Amino acid sequence: MSDVRNTIIIGSGPAGLTAAIYTARASLAPLVIEGEPSSTSDQPGGQLMLTTEVENFPGWPEGIQGPELMMRFKEQAGRFGAEFLTEKVTKVDFSQRPFTVWVRDQQFKANSVIVASGAQSLMLDLPRETDLIGHGVSTCATCDGVFFRGQEIAVVGGGDSAIEEATFLTKFASKVHLVVRRDTLRASRIMQQRAFDNEKIEIVWNSQVTTLHGESSLSGVTLTSTDGSTRELPVTGLFIAIGHKPNTAIFSGVLNMEDSGYLMTRAGSTFTDVAGVFACGDVQDHTYRQAITAAGSGCMAAIDCERWLESQH
Ligand code: NDP
Repeated sequence: MSDVRNTIIIGSGPAGLTAAIYTARASLAPLVIEGEPSSTSDQPGGQLMLTTEVENFPGWPEGIQGPELMMRFKEQAGRFGAEFLTEKVTKVDFSQRPFTVWVRDQQFKANSVIVASGAQSLMLDLPRETDLIGHGVSTCATCDGVFFRGQEIAVVGGGDSAIEEATFLTKFASKVHLVVRRDTLRASRIMQQRAFDNEKIEIVWNSQVTTLHGESSLSGVTLTSTDGSTRELPVTGLFIAIGHKPNTAIFSGVLNMEDSGYLMTRAGSTFTDVAGVFACGDVQDHTYRQAITAAGSGCMAAIDCERWLESQH
């Protein structure tokens, strides 16, 4: 059937676009369904579209803006014949081959699918929060910590991520306020102790960030405590570490996933539990969550997919 494609790639962050580069170069003519521009969770280009300077992607010694990096990934995939559709996948049927992928009522069929739909950081849902991402508000200490050398900053959250981020950030910041909404931490004991022992971390208990201040960049936040009192914190950085959510709603009941929603892949590979469907990037990785690791697993998915397709012929 001529309308059946070799492969469809769902998602266009570093994982999806690397899979596109590799499958396109392998003459598989992939269709990349890249996401919806109006969304902050499924946007084409993925989470890097919400960052500014990327200084840790190898090959860019002077750093590069997140959106420009993704534009270059896309250009490279396009050069080898990847096709792009700027829409969001609304439904999939992986119960029989060829697989079917829907964008509203439009159907696409393919012999293989690479899922690279990514994850999103949970946010506080405060006014101007999205505008200030990359301008003081961040969801990634590894990526942005270095920009806050000698500055006073805050981290929101009381889980392992928040403490890991806060601890990492003390390498750069003069002081880290850890804003915790309850009177106890959710984090493991060993991580809690790490926070208590670090002189640069001050825990602000029973408090929530309720207002973000600053025009072009963050200049402070208002904290509201459970007793209703408020106070200002003059921080230039706010790291939100209240958890992540993989973009897997459409795969519920279709692909094996952990309770947390992350797709499960066979160890050391990108194979899901459905033969011919592969998963790469943050949708199946809650540990590393870096552009470079996502790109690496996108490459793995493309190679797994190409070899699997060959084995079917
Ligand atoms: P968690 O769900 O464990 O913790 C989320 C934290 O954010 C909780 O303290 C929660 O508060 C708080 N929170 C949630 N929503 C809000 C909100 N709207 N405003 C303020 N605070 C909020 O997520 P993590 O990302 O920390 O961890 C995810 C998983 O990854 C865990 O299993 C963790 O153990 C693991 N992990 C392990 C690490 C390690 O071992 N080194 C490092 C990082 C993660 P509350 O407690 O009140 O619900």
